[in-house]
Amino acid sequence: MRRETRLCHYGQPNRPGPANPPVVRASTILHDTVESYRDTKRRREHDDSVLSYGRRGTTTAHALMEAIADLEGAEGAWLLPSGVAAISSALLALLRPGDHVLLVDTIFGATRTFCEEVLSEFGVSIGLFPCGTTDLAPYLRPQTRLVFVESPGSQTFEVMDLPALCACAHAAGVVVMADNTYGSGWLYRPIALGCDVSIIAGTKYLGGHADVMMGAVSASGEAAARLRKAVHASGQGLAPDEAYATLRGMRTLSLRLERHEHNAMALAAWFAERPEVLGVLHPALPSHPGQAIWKRDASGSNGLLSVVFAPGFDTEALLDRLRLFGVGSSWGGFESLAMPIAPDRSRPSLQDFPQTSEIVRFHAGLEHVDDLIADLDAALAVQGPLER
Ligand SMILES: *Cc1c(COP(=O)(O)O)cnc(C)c1O
Repeated sequence: MRRETRLCHYGQPNRPGPANPPVVRASTILHDTVESYRDTKRRREHDDSVLSYGRRGTTTAHALMEAIADLEGAEGAWLLPSGVAAISSALLALLRPGDHVLLVDTIFGATRTFCEEVLSEFGVSIGLFPCGTTDLAPYLRPQTRLVFVESPGSQTFEVMDLPALCACAHAAGVVVMADNTYGSGWLYRPIALGCDVSIIAGTKYLGGHADVMMGAVSASGEAAARLRKAVHASGQGLAPDEAYATLRGMRTLSLRLERHEHNAMALAAWFAERPEVLGVLHPALPSHPGQAIWKRDASGSNGLLSVVFAPGFDTEALLDRLRLFGVGSSWGGFESLAMPIAPDRSRPSLQDFPQTSEIVRFHAGLEHVDDLIADLDAALAVQGPLER
């Protein structure tokens, strides 16, 4: 069955029944007999779809776990209350005092903060490597246990060669974990490319409507067993309403991403012609250094693009004038967004970046692209063309 069809049927209850798995709220699950109670406890040891107690998730969360595991091509998926919770829980599950973890230098900011400010206090040392790396040898230490990758980066979209990097890491016995929020399991599947663990901030495209916070961590084999144990033992999970909203959002994941991609590509082409613009960053553009690898490994791109404006251009005035693009964090919802970004100047992989430029990350929403362009056009017209 094709993936689009599976999106429509994930978690459907037996018929006759509702089209969606209902929101089941519960702490206690009642049994008539002690035998049934004991049997449930036994079965849940090896099966996360057993309804045993609210902390282990009810049928609503179980449906979503199965859907995300299938989307990611993993043995199992575990749910957490935010993307950052999924990231921090996975790192705590897989690392021990004395270990060394390598982060790609384009990693999501909050991931780096967690590692540097919390994980380090548990005796885990942290190293960074440039996103173009395929040979990890210069960065590996005898204590290196895990490499955390993210492709493309979520601000300037550097693409990594995951198959090459995973082969190198595995040869050294190192686990590879990916932040797959950009591809959200639809455009990009890190586990099929060699990664051991994949994490999605479902807050973005899985929920898709800017009203859900959730994260998922998917894995197979030994990594899955360790993640499962840690998630259950630490009492992590996702509330039934959030699980329901995420699965409901996923029904239209492929359709929404098609439209996001279409709008982002149209905006990229439009920006590229503007005199105020030095360059447009988007992994599917021929001008992007990662385009060949992205084409090889991904089935498409999402609604994100970053625009490098000429030095001195007043990006704040532009953002303040836009009507259809809200200014705000996050992305992946139906709505268009704009946010000034300042990619960390110390990132070695960003050496070629125009150091003095103003960069804005846009998220192309599901609006009609003509209206988005008209909004940008009107805002720039007021501002006047930049002297060059
Ligand atoms: C948003 C985001 C996260 C964190 O997700 P939250 O649900 O906001 O905690 C992690 N990684 C990437 C790439 C993101 O864009």
